[in-house]
Amino acid sequence: MLSRAPFVDTHGRVVRDLRISVTDRCNLRCVYCMPAEGMPWLPREQLLTYEELARFARICVECGVRGIRLTGGEPTVRQDLPVLVRMLRAISPALDLSLTTNALELAGMADELRGAGIDRVNVSLDTLSRERFHAISRRDRLADVLAGLAAAKRAGFSPVKVNAVLMRGTNDDEAVPLARWARGEGYELRFVEWMPLDFQHQWDRNRLVPADDILAALERALPLLPVPPEDGDDPSSPARTWRYRDGVGRVGIIASVTKPFCGQCDRIRLTADGQIRTCLFAHREHDVRHAMRSGAGDDAIEAIVRAAVLRKAPGHLVGQAGFVQPARGMSAIGG
Ligand code: SAM
Ligand code: SF4
Repeated sequence: MLSRAPFVDTHGRVVRDLRISVTDRCNLRCVYCMPAEGMPWLPREQLLTYEELARFARICVECGVRGIRLTGGEPTVRQDLPVLVRMLRAISPALDLSLTTNALELAGMADELRGAGIDRVNVSLDTLSRERFHAISRRDRLADVLAGLAAAKRAGFSPVKVNAVLMRGTNDDEAVPLARWARGEGYELRFVEWMPLDFQHQWDRNRLVPADDILAALERALPLLPVPPEDGDDPSSPARTWRYRDGVGRVGIIASVTKPFCGQCDRIRLTADGQIRTCLFAHREHDVRHAMRSGAGDDAIEAIVRAAVLRKAPGHLVGQAGFVQPARGMSAIGG
């Protein structure tokens, strides 16, 4: 499908992965992501249409993008999501198409999404306690998430991954219970370090549970063997992976803050309102929506992406002097 030159930045990193946020809206209100009252949602006319999203995706695939992940906000709350999935699948049968979701709607959608062309799903779940789930997400919906996960497994997604964010004093005692549960269910668990990307700016370095602490807790309870990068996810994957010594199951940790992986980063993001971001923590956005709606041809869209990628920063400065949190939060950028 490569009919255009790949996007390469000034540090030699090649863009292979595109994250598309299909909406900024969400049916949960996770404390590390957005305020209890929600956000002023984007007006509908500012959202890229499915035709615009598919066109952008096609140009990126022509430039060497191999994987597209749909995210949000909560992607499943955008109407007719399977329609978009089918349009993306039509771009290339080889495209790795995945979805990140809170799974509230997955029980009723898993089969259709699989049939439309999604290969893999990541479900976000930070606790197995109903009370804690309610406190973290501000909604009493743990049962729906578990039902969504079960439906994803039945629908044949492989692997079904579970992403968990741990916070001290909230759910930091759940590393081992979550790992045992995920292993038993056949889900691949990945812990993601808490990042300063909430709208309320309440991120607290002292409440972040570092990857090393998570690993130590896991190793005390469950014998692990590191998976070498060549046997794990692709080398640009941010997760370090371990397998259980008895060969059943794997667990990963994404140390975005304490061990940044910016040097291997191969991704760009498109926000729901059509802005390219080359990093979660970038301050600059590059407007594709305006270009598309002013009649720009494919070459002009490609040029905007290429120029954005050329300005991609070598890495983020989280935890260092001079770090300034971006104006938009995780749900608006697309996690
Ligand atoms: N709503 C979907 C979901 O929750 O899976 C997709 C969007 S959500 C922004 C994507 C991922 O970002 C989720 O796994 C969520 O836990 C994670 N996330 C949100 N805010 C975060 C933060 N401040 N630090 C680390 N991960 C965060
Ligand atoms: Fe919604 Fe996902 Fe943010 Fe939670 S993390 S509020 S589910 S967008």
